[in-house]
Amino acid sequence: MRALRYDGPGQIIPVGVAEPVAGPDDVLVRPLQVGICFTDKLAYDSPEFQVYPIGTVLGHEFCGRVAEVGGNVDGVRVGDLVAPDPRVYCGACTNCHAGYMNHCTTTKGWIGVHGGWPGALAELVRVPALSLYRMPDGLSHSGGAAVEAFTFALRQIRHVQPAVGDNVVVLGAEDYGLAETGLLAGVAGEVLVADPNELRRAAALRFGATVVVDPGFSLVEEYRAGHPHGADLVVVNAEAYVARSQHYLREAIELCRPGATILLSRSSGSSLFPSIDPALAAAKQLDIRYFGTCFGEEPWRGGRDRGDWAVTLSAMTTGRLSAERLGATVIGFDELRAKRDVDELMHLLPDHATKVFVEVST
Ligand SMILES: [Zn+2]
Ligand SMILES: [Zn+2]
Repeated sequence: MRALRYDGPGQIIPVGVAEPVAGPDDVLVRPLQVGICFTDKLAYDSPEFQVYPIGTVLGHEFCGRVAEVGGNVDGVRVGDLVAPDPRVYCGACTNCHAGYMNHCTTTKGWIGVHGGWPGALAELVRVPALSLYRMPDGLSHSGGAAVEAFTFALRQIRHVQPAVGDNVVVLGAEDYGLAETGLLAGVAGEVLVADPNELRRAAALRFGATVVVDPGFSLVEEYRAGHPHGADLVVVNAEAYVARSQHYLREAIELCRPGATILLSRSSGSSLFPSIDPALAAAKQLDIRYFGTCFGEEPWRGGRDRGDWAVTLSAMTTGRLSAERLGATVIGFDELRAKRDVDELMHLLPDHATKVFVEVST
């Protein structure tokens, strides 16, 4: 079958690979749409980023149709539409029970990233039944492929618990920043979104941003002029390939009022940290929450059904979050026949597309 394989930085290659075989506790899924993650982009761009083993079939943000069901799997039928959680975990160890599946002590993997689980940029993908979520009626295929990125955003906003009327600044409006904006709009007093890219600023308005700005180097001064007490919450989405973003954490500390919260939502590597003034952060008694790339379940809020993934799916069903507002670019899998086709796709990010979905099947 056809697949897109990561063979090292700058090397994502269309190849032929063997079809996966479903184990007794797995299903095979025929992918519909697959999101190109900004982490895929980082792996493509950066030799320093070595999370993906060479030879990994990419694609961890996806939805699809169940094509085959393993012998031990109940409650799933061929033809069901699913938006799987790409994480592979046991569901039984202490960390899984506590909702920290990314710290599962027995099984570790991430479909399309590492752990020997090939991804969904292929005609078929193997998924543990434990990781399956049914797609709600009415959710588009792009919506199904956006659940993973949106879940990160939702977990983070749930945990920082913004207060009604807060003044919020979102620095960086890639997919997480946009979903965060969507969740904050309607709760916050003002959501100011700063991003150097016009497409992302336009998307931020669709997600409900009150104000969008192209952040110059007087961002802090300008914000302070209109908000002399500072922001209540600053969300930082810093990606290595957005040059401006390497200043976001330092600026966030300067933007905050005393006692404010910084949500460090997305950051690649450690390059942000040397720029900050720890004395200023300490003097302001900031609450800095660092989520990185983790989401999970919250048993103390009612068990698995209230986990981040399920809550995100319901937010998408009610229209609170919508993948359509991303204004994403959709590329057919059939158009990706040669390496140069994939190179063109990867170069759409970050400046020429807000998000890219590959339509593997319809
Ligand atoms: Zn991702
Ligand atoms: Zn576990």
